Amino acid sequence: MLQAEYRAIDLMKTLKFKLYSHKRNRFLKRCVNAAGVIYNHCIAVHKRYYRLWGKHLNCNQLKGHIAKLRKRKDFWQQVGSQAVQDICERIEKAYQLFFKHHKKGVRPPNFKKVKKYKSFTLKQAGYKLLGGNRIKIGSRVFQYWNSREIDGTVKTLTIKRTPLGEMFLMVVVDTVNKPEIKVETGKTAGFDFGLKTFLTCSEGFEIESPFLLKRSLTAIKKANRALSRKVKGCHNREQARLNLVRKHKDVANRRRDWFWKLAHQLTNQFDVLCFETLNLKGMQRLWGRKISDLAFREFMQILEWVAKKKGKLVSYIDRWFPSSKTCNHCGHVLESLDLSVREWRCPSCQAVNGRDDNAAKNIKMVGISTIGVGDVRQALPAIPA
Ligand SMILES: [Zn+2]
Repeated sequence: MLQAEYRAIDLMKTLKFKLYSHKRNRFLKRCVNAAGVIYNHCIAVHKRYYRLWGKHLNCNQLKGHIAKLRKRKDFWQQVGSQAVQDICERIEKAYQLFFKHHKKGVRPPNFKKVKKYKSFTLKQAGYKLLGGNRIKIGSRVFQYWNSREIDGTVKTLTIKRTPLGEMFLMVVVDTVNKPEIKVETGKTAGFDFGLKTFLTCSEGFEIESPFLLKRSLTAIKKANRALSRKVKGCHNREQARLNLVRKHKDVANRRRDWFWKLAHQLTNQFDVLCFETLNLKGMQRLWGRKISDLAFREFMQILEWVAKKKGKLVSYIDRWFPSSKTCNHCGHVLESLDLSVREWRCPSCQAVNGRDDNAAKNIKMVGISTIGVGDVRQALPAIPA
């Protein structure tokens, strides 16, 4: 079934807060320093172990060793026991990366200058969110710039020092129980972009590309020809050039106008609108230069803006999902589908699928399954960078 193939989206997110600068922050900086000292000690232990035994020191062994050592060193106790374990795990990760990719030039972890050491991480213990903008770390209370709400379960807290000496909190939260939009309450639609048909909607209607643009294009061509006939430097040529510029502007204005109207119409009809992430380069290769005339990109920007104003949602599905080649009835995926084929019969369930309609329905289905769970604001952007 289709459902099983959908990529689960990452539900963890990291929120970043800046701590108020305060004398008290010295305490945290000392903690970071202590973490750096412990880190270097761990690296030394790793190296010594390898020299003696010729093999990699197991992470749990290291944790046990460091935990025992910590009890005897006052300075080390500035760092909580969980943060110490985290240091061991960080080093382990770095080593695993080195083992896997050393041929590509990845180096093993090495000593770091304590002054340049950046952060330590706490898991469940060692801190407490006190509400508002206050947090208790160890036995001290700190305040931070409360730029956004911490929604979800806090997984880890990382205290980070920048080279400028500013302190940040990096809070990793799990948003799994907090879907931001309830899809079942509203109407949802999927849309597929096309060349002749501007949009095909999963709910059984199509939106034609505006003819007025084609008409204006003819006007542009005419103005262009008029310009090229004029002799360079003469007054008439300047007039012709201005005329052409005006025509271009005219087309752009009309198109934008049409986009705004369409955006309002669609957001009136639906609460959630699902699209494929635009692959403009690929479309251009497929369809030639006409694509720029249709200006999907501009339309999506307008639509996103209107949707945001109205509290509607525009969601994007992964651009690698084969929306045209997948049967929306049974999930069968064709090996290939030529662009000229407008309709195909599914070899598995015998359903007849219209090319664009089928794609739109798939986009809707994938869209729903994606936003049903996660933080929708983190959906993919329309145009991949
Ligand atoms: Zn089928």
